[in-house]
Amino acid sequence: MVSSSLHQLEVPTPAYICPYDQACSYLEEAAKELKLDQGILEVLSHPRKVVTVSIPVKRDNGQVQVLAGHRVQHCDILGPYKGGIRYHPAVTLREVSALAMLMTWKCALLGIPYGGAKGGIAIDPKLYSVDELERITRRYTSELIKDIGPAVDIPAPDMGTSAREMAWMMDTYSVNVGHAVPGVVTGKPISIGGSRGREMATGRGVMFIVREALIDKGQSLVGTRIAIQGFGNVGSAAALLLHQAGAKVIAVSTGSGGIFCEDGLDIPALKAYAAQNRKGVVGFGQTTPISNAELLTLPCDVLIPAALENQITEDNVNQVQASIIAEAANGPVTLVANQLLESRGVTVLPDILANAGGVVVSYLEWVQGLSYVFWDEERVNKELEQLMVQAYRQVIQKSLDRQIPLRLAAYTLGVGRVAKALSDRGLYP
Ligand code: GLU
Repeated sequence: MVSSSLHQLEVPTPAYICPYDQACSYLEEAAKELKLDQGILEVLSHPRKVVTVSIPVKRDNGQVQVLAGHRVQHCDILGPYKGGIRYHPAVTLREVSALAMLMTWKCALLGIPYGGAKGGIAIDPKLYSVDELERITRRYTSELIKDIGPAVDIPAPDMGTSAREMAWMMDTYSVNVGHAVPGVVTGKPISIGGSRGREMATGRGVMFIVREALIDKGQSLVGTRIAIQGFGNVGSAAALLLHQAGAKVIAVSTGSGGIFCEDGLDIPALKAYAAQNRKGVVGFGQTTPISNAELLTLPCDVLIPAALENQITEDNVNQVQASIIAEAANGPVTLVANQLLESRGVTVLPDILANAGGVVVSYLEWVQGLSYVFWDEERVNKELEQLMVQAYRQVIQKSLDRQIPLRLAAYTLGVGRVAKALSDRGLYP
């Protein structure tokens, strides 16, 4: 079987919401708020480099398949490009480009010296063996060898990838350049220079941001009813940490369906169940099965979409009952749904703030690697907490000062910092 997924990309369906157009709309809103120069807006609206490579891979049955692998480098004004590698069937070049732009604002908002990038391959990793995934990852890395590097572009895990893929990337890059280069990726195993606390970092960051938002409403995590869509790396870590902090996680889901329990789920037991059960969380204990769509509209205090983009749309937004939405996924609320939620007074904690914990600990991993001094997990978690809470406070302050919603406040801070650096550096030539 020889198929070119390069040609299967991006056939818009009638309900298609272009992620890149959405990302540009948020950028334009921030540019208006900042009264940005049109030329600067023009530069920031375009990725600096877009790379698509063919990845020929021999399947275990001997057949050859050619996959398309993308890497989009949006902006490196503040430092090396930074961002995850996604393996998911819904990956498209437009999505990767939008996510690369989001990384630029996320890093700038958190005050870490990186630009933004993203990579992806449109595959369902569950349909490939470990050996096949290794061949795919190594070939993808070698095709990108001139475009990545510890001072150039530093990949990390994203949906469908983990420390395992980062180890393969690090090894492939190192063998090609002739010496070990741990700093070429972050989110790698601790045995080769990974950071303690990295695996739980995005979920931990979500927990800190939700905790702060509750404090601002005079509430606390204890007893707060939370529904979480997605029980992967981010959703399950957030669920566990919120549960440990006293919250009641009443519902969670995966792609194959969700479960609900009025009294709150036993998250440690659920994590153990999900790890054993390839079909996800359904069937766990005394719980009621629910669909992903039902989960989003459950009566709860906090809703955490931690799966894919475009989950809360104009079609279901009016049924959403939570008063706080924390975007643990990237772009789970569409532009129109976001406007409707804001006008209803729902607190939407935007993705570039709520899910920034992963890249923050990637940065801490990079710093530890550069200084050859490695920290214990307590120190990593403390530094993460400090950077997350500081960014949260800055967003709240900006929102109050300018009387603007949190997403616009977050974008204004992120975009504003990049725009300032761009105008200080000037245009070459
Ligand atoms: N993939 C994560 C994100 O979207 C982490 C990126 C990184 O650590 O570079 O933020």
